[in-house]
Amino acid sequence: MEKRRLTAGMRLPLVVMLLVIGILPMIFQGKMMAGSFKQSQIDARSLEIQNQGMILSNKLSRAGYMDADVKDTILDSEMDVLADVLNGRIVVVDEDYRVVRDTFRIAERKYQISEEIMRCFQGEYTNKYDKDKHYYIQTFPLYDMSREAGISGVMLITASSENILLQVEMVEDKANLFQLMAVLAIGVAVFLMVRFFMKPLEEFQNKLSQVAAGDLNTDISFSVYREIQQMWESVSQAIRKLQDVDKSRQEFVSNVSHELKTPITSIRVLADSLMSMENAPVELYQEFMNDISDEIDRESKIIDDLLSLVKMDKAATELNIGHVNMNILLEQILKRLRPIAQKRNIELTLESMREVVADADEVKFSLALSNLVENAIKYNKEEGWVHVSLDADHKFCYIKVSDSGIGIPEEFQSRIFERFYRVDKARSRETGGTGLGLAITRNIIQMHQGAIKVKSKEGEGTTFTVRIPLTYIP
Ligand code: ADP
Repeated sequence: MEKRRLTAGMRLPLVVMLLVIGILPMIFQGKMMAGSFKQSQIDARSLEIQNQGMILSNKLSRAGYMDADVKDTILDSEMDVLADVLNGRIVVVDEDYRVVRDTFRIAERKYQISEEIMRCFQGEYTNKYDKDKHYYIQTFPLYDMSREAGISGVMLITASSENILLQVEMVEDKANLFQLMAVLAIGVAVFLMVRFFMKPLEEFQNKLSQVAAGDLNTDISFSVYREIQQMWESVSQAIRKLQDVDKSRQEFVSNVSHELKTPITSIRVLADSLMSMENAPVELYQEFMNDISDEIDRESKIIDDLLSLVKMDKAATELNIGHVNMNILLEQILKRLRPIAQKRNIELTLESMREVVADADEVKFSLALSNLVENAIKYNKEEGWVHVSLDADHKFCYIKVSDSGIGIPEEFQSRIFERFYRVDKARSRETGGTGLGLAITRNIIQMHQGAIKVKSKEGEGTTFTVRIPLTYIP
């Protein structure tokens, strides 16, 4: 049982492919750009906090902020301003971890001990961004210039990144909107493109359906795609061939019926005329019965020829190939046909240039050559000659059958290989021809991967040349 193969429409894969090509890179690029934009904003803010914090902590150190009993109000307000600008909080802690200044004013004079502050007293400054809680934490040491006692305090800046993230989000929203619009635009473009691309294919399919429905004159030469035009040309060629095959099949059937009917009609006429005669003499009976017997022979010859032709068509691959000595084969054929030739004093000669052994089906090939020699005798004149020659080169075997016969007019030479074709119907009938001999011969030679050619001049004679390869390659 034949397996059914899964088939799919072209439209869906095309749409998916175009969408993937058009949209995926855009989404990736958008996501990457958004990510790096966010990071760069966060980094820039971190740097800003660091710079501003450094400037302020230096100022505080230089002004001896930690030592002064009364804090410098200008510096205090500078701290407030910076905390506002950074959207954060600044806390200053002294050596005892006591808060001396808090821009939020809630921790002043309280103790604040945190890891970052402790580390800062030890000389390790923190510059950190907490991704989860969205805030920066940075520490700056405050030196005591007068005492030269090292770090006398720590300034701690904490700042939120909320406003940056808000900004980034806004930009992302805009980018997403743009992306959505782009995706929609690409979707529409893909839809139109696929429609544009598929339209000629659909037209092609419609035309094929028309052809399938029997309208063989459909024309699709207007298609924009060269590939479709080429496909159409191949399809029309196939259709034309099918039409030819159909036509020749019909012709063959009508020829066969006609050919088979002819002898039967003759038999009927002969029988009817005998029956209509009262007291017909025995001689007349004998004569008519002879004619009837001839017609029956004819009928059976037509049937035999038809059968071998049909067999040949069916068993194109069933060749019984063997190494055949062509010299011996031809000698046998001539020996068999010599009595017929002698009846009309026709000289039958064979000329072998060399010993030739070729791959062939002996029975079939013998039939093909016999037909040629038989014809050469049949369509010859009294005291004429038939000359058969055999030759070969390293690749092919050549057999020539020449005669001094009536010849074939130029205009009929291309048709003599057709089934039932006869140049002179009456003469062919006289000689018992069915019109199938050359068709059978050509079939057999083509099965042997060979070729047959005819050369003839009316009134002078005919030469058939057969060529088959010495080795048969299945
Ligand atoms: P047929 O049974 O009539 O001989 P063939 O197929 O063998 O049928 O030949 C077809 C026609 O070709 C013949 O009727 C004849 O007119 C012509 N023909 C074939 N061989 C020769 C030849 N050697 N000389 C002249 N005419 C030939």
